[in-house]
Amino acid sequence: ALNIPDKQVDSVCPYCGVGCQLTYNVKDNKILYVEGRQGPANLGRLCVKGRYGFDYAHHPHRLTKPLIRREGVPKSGEFTMDPDRVLDVFREASWEEALALAGGKLADIRDAHGGAALAGFGSAKGSNEEAYLFQKLVRTGFRTNNVDHCTRLCHASSVSALLEGIGSGAVSNPVMDVTRAEVIVIIGANPTVNHPVAATWIKNAVKTGVKLVVMDPRRSDLARHAHRFLQFKPDTDVALLNAMMHVIVHEKLVDEAFIASRTIGYAELEANVANYSPEAMAPICGIDADTIRYVARLYATSAGSMILWGMGISQHVHGTDNARCLIALSLMTGQIGRPGTGLHPLRGQNNVQGASDAGLIPMMLPDYQRVDNPSARARFEQAWGATLDPKPGLTVVEIMDAIDAGQIRGMYIMGENPAMSDPDANHARAALAALEHLVVQDIFLTETAYLADVILPASAFPEKTGTFTNTDRLVQLGRQAIDPPGEAKQDLWIIQQMASRLGLPWNYGSVAEVFDEMRRNMASIGGITWERLERNGAVVYPCMNEGDTGEPVVFTELFPREGGKARFVPADIIPADERPDAEYPMVLITGRQLEHWHTGSMTRRAGVLDAIEPDPVALVHPLDMERLNVKPGDAITIASRRGEVVLYARADDSSPVGAIFVPFCYYEAAINRLTNAALDPFGKIPEFKYCAIKVAPG
Ligand code: SF4
Repeated sequence: ALNIPDKQVDSVCPYCGVGCQLTYNVKDNKILYVEGRQGPANLGRLCVKGRYGFDYAHHPHRLTKPLIRREGVPKSGEFTMDPDRVLDVFREASWEEALALAGGKLADIRDAHGGAALAGFGSAKGSNEEAYLFQKLVRTGFRTNNVDHCTRLCHASSVSALLEGIGSGAVSNPVMDVTRAEVIVIIGANPTVNHPVAATWIKNAVKTGVKLVVMDPRRSDLARHAHRFLQFKPDTDVALLNAMMHVIVHEKLVDEAFIASRTIGYAELEANVANYSPEAMAPICGIDADTIRYVARLYATSAGSMILWGMGISQHVHGTDNARCLIALSLMTGQIGRPGTGLHPLRGQNNVQGASDAGLIPMMLPDYQRVDNPSARARFEQAWGATLDPKPGLTVVEIMDAIDAGQIRGMYIMGENPAMSDPDANHARAALAALEHLVVQDIFLTETAYLADVILPASAFPEKTGTFTNTDRLVQLGRQAIDPPGEAKQDLWIIQQMASRLGLPWNYGSVAEVFDEMRRNMASIGGITWERLERNGAVVYPCMNEGDTGEPVVFTELFPREGGKARFVPADIIPADERPDAEYPMVLITGRQLEHWHTGSMTRRAGVLDAIEPDPVALVHPLDMERLNVKPGDAITIASRRGEVVLYARADDSSPVGAIFVPFCYYEAAINRLTNAALDPFGKIPEFKYCAIKVAPG
């Protein structure tokens, strides 16, 4: 009887971009268990995070009252999880007092120094409606475009290449299209760990005869299922991809009709890849010329080839160039615009697609309307009744530098944890601590919240209703299953309260009302009504008019660029910003592990997940372990020029000798203290996938 739910609520998973639909089974305002639902992306399947990662919502660490930093307590930058010490640093406050201080001080800074002295980070963990209102608040209340979120750390370079090349930053085909492909290329992604249910569709496709090509410096689980696995050297993506294109051009495997009718700029691309023969690139990328030729032919000549990629492509100073090469491969062979083909950057968080669509990025208004485009700006000025800044705002890492420079003095951070997720995290923490005023809205006292002046206790995923857009462009409805604890409030309410302290007379009566405003201002979702979402649970965009079915596969006839044509953009080899040397002879690659989600604030407080992976680990090749004289389970110290951490060594031969992989979820060994803040010049994404380190036992 104890385990019989008193209600069942249909929602979606709060973790990755696959967007699995699930059902919360609830009793007495507590989630008892979670079951998979027949959603379009998961057909009842869930991974370990979706199935077991729910009890963080009931964790005793939940923030239940607004907190204000005590007078004179310095922002030391050192984080504590000890609940007893929390009240040494912060005092409890009423909502009225906390909001008056939080919003009032930001308004004071704006009035004294202008909107450019403020910035806001929203979150890809929040709903579309929260993202939309948050960016609207920053743009019309702060009066700046300094608004960004973790897409900057994730697929910003992919999006920049996609917008430039094909006019849209979203995927061309859904994940499920792998079952309709003849060849699947997975590059720089580890779906078994990061998009587990998507990985099951890929494995199912392989069983039916689809040929899988995995290209990655690390041997992922999917490599076991691959027709070919190309373990190229870290940082040599452009060399490998240009060599493949060289083969396709040289052997006349290009789709001439597609190039002539649907693209521009091919001549420059062709001239550029002439310099990248497989023989010349083989020693650079570590893949022999015959294998490069074989895979290039396979990709170009199949009836349908689809490319999926992840952070291994995007998180480099040449991330945009890496993505440009993938786009060029698909265009030159006509492997796009049909079912079972196309380009799919696998989205990380469950709503990173939707948050970006909703305008939570500094250079774009909702629906990717550029802030520096006068007619787009005029449309939103009229819709919002406000004057908008024509200057694109600063991005995540640039904001930290602007704090250093004294340019940014106040910030509002909702649901993001830059003290853990930003590169060179010691620097990021020092910058956050240097702010005159920091407001953090979250469900736990995160490492970032620890540096705040005011903390606003927010709602966890199952405590609110909203829409979330998955990696396939599916807009899905997440429904409230339980109430927030104590005095914690729904994020949409908090954003509106903050808006009123900044002089904005907002009064949205419901989530549906916010969504309705969004669809009026965003043509891509104009045809999606709230009633339809309540009825169907999921609708794919573009869906311009009510009654449209939505388009799972796009670019079938035209690309959304001038003249309807896609553009080739050639790329040349640019080395990583920080290469190994005598002092720091090894390479650090950061990423995620199956059980933990990003900075760990939720999954490390989920009982089952934390029990499986409780301690910070570094994955070290056995030959490196031998050379370093360490055994599995020994403590090791990893240091870069920016910081050091101590964690446990785990033998793992999937990374190449000389490269160490570390997940970024462990606050006690925050690996981003070591990473390099060097940025891709186009997407402004940091180089998380490559920096120089040294390792020592103990
Ligand atoms: Fe959640 Fe992603 Fe796992 Fe699906 S695959 S259950 S969306 S974490």
